[in-house]
Amino acid sequence: MAEAAMYECPCCDRRTHWHNTACPYCGADLAECALIDEAADLRFNAGLAAARDQHWLQAMQHLLLAVEGRPTDAGAWVLLGKVHAKMGLPAAARACFKEALAYAPRDARAQAAFVACGGKQLTPDMLKGL
Ligand SMILES: [Zn+2]
Repeated sequence: MAEAAMYECPCCDRRTHWHNTACPYCGADLAECALIDEAADLRFNAGLAAARDQHWLQAMQHLLLAVEGRPTDAGAWVLLGKVHAKMGLPAAARACFKEALAYAPRDARAQAAFVACGGKQLTPDMLKGL
């Protein structure tokens, strides 16, 4: 199970999966959290479709909402960074790739994209501070 798909139950602070509609530990109703996650999936998919069609602004709008709903989604941050790069915004792209690396430090796509946008090669020690 991907760590990015986990979050802390607001009632008992134990880690649970985004898709759970009830906390497996304390039984809290997590339906609204699951809906937020589903919305993030829909936004990500819409962003991906727009990016494939090279509708960069539309892709950016969907992906910003996707990462707002699920800020730990490294894949969404990488795609958002690539969209920024395509729009000629390398500094914003690097910021997105750094976000991705904060949640997935070993993500080779994020590392390569960060360096391709002018970022310095990141060492594991540098990633700890992100
Ligand atoms: Zn709980």
